[in-house]
Amino acid sequence: MSICFYRGTFMPLEECRIPVTDLAIQRGVGVFDSIRTYGKNIFALKEHIERLSESAKRCGMEAEKIINELPDIIKKGVNHDSAPDGDMVVKAYITGGCINDHGHFPEPDFFVIFEEAHVLTSEELRNGVALKPIYKERPFPETKSTNYLAGYMTMRGAKPNEFEALYIVNGEITESSTSSFFLCKDGKIITAPVGKVLRGITREILITLLKENNFVVEERCPLESELSSADEAFISGSVKEILPIIKVGDQTIGNGHPGPVSQHIHKLFLSNLDRWM
Ligand SMILES: *Cc1c(COP(=O)(O)O)cnc(C)c1O
Repeated sequence: MSICFYRGTFMPLEECRIPVTDLAIQRGVGVFDSIRTYGKNIFALKEHIERLSESAKRCGMEAEKIINELPDIIKKGVNHDSAPDGDMVVKAYITGGCINDHGHFPEPDFFVIFEEAHVLTSEELRNGVALKPIYKERPFPETKSTNYLAGYMTMRGAKPNEFEALYIVNGEITESSTSSFFLCKDGKIITAPVGKVLRGITREILITLLKENNFVVEERCPLESELSSADEAFISGSVKEILPIIKVGDQTIGNGHPGPVSQHIHKLFLSNLDRWM
């Protein structure tokens, strides 16, 4: 069963309520982080907590106390009797709370959801998916904010195999709605630099693994004009791991099927999971 931690206790998810006075509800002031478990093993917990802390700071939330409490709460939740049995996603949210002091939020609130991880279908992995371009910058690219509206609006009228939106700014590809984006071209792996995109934890781990394995990694924005000559592309994220991209808008990538490099990198990732548990 899905459970939620709020104000000192774990409860069934559907029983959890936060006040309508919270600025997350009234004004969209909220940050979060999604953490994957493999069974009861929590993946890259420290890295996720650090990024959540950065997101909260960037949004003016005074969240040090919450950040310090979170690792223990997450470990308790994952091992809770009522938590789901299989792989989980742990979603830790910090909200603005009820006080806005000139863009400074002195009393943020928080809750943590523990639910079954909705991993990719074998069909998505086998066939790859398409992305639908959005020609805009993601607001506050370095924060994992709860506001996904721009990405969602883009998906109105999307084709069935279009998985999510891909942000492209002045011809430069940054990231997709909930994932980091990678292009494979001429033996190189190209991905946007932090600052233009969120510091994806899976992205960082992949860059480490790729460098250890003598791949050439270029941290610059892949260009939209490079899509037509790319060999492969993929996106990464904590729950989805690595997902091959076969099309962006009307542009087919490579031969339109998931390629050997993406598959190799996914295997590399899975065989190194233990190092981040
Ligand atoms: C969550 C997210 C990612 C992926 O980050 P991971 O830490 O790898 O899960 C990338 N970009 C955006 C915009 C995100 O929200």
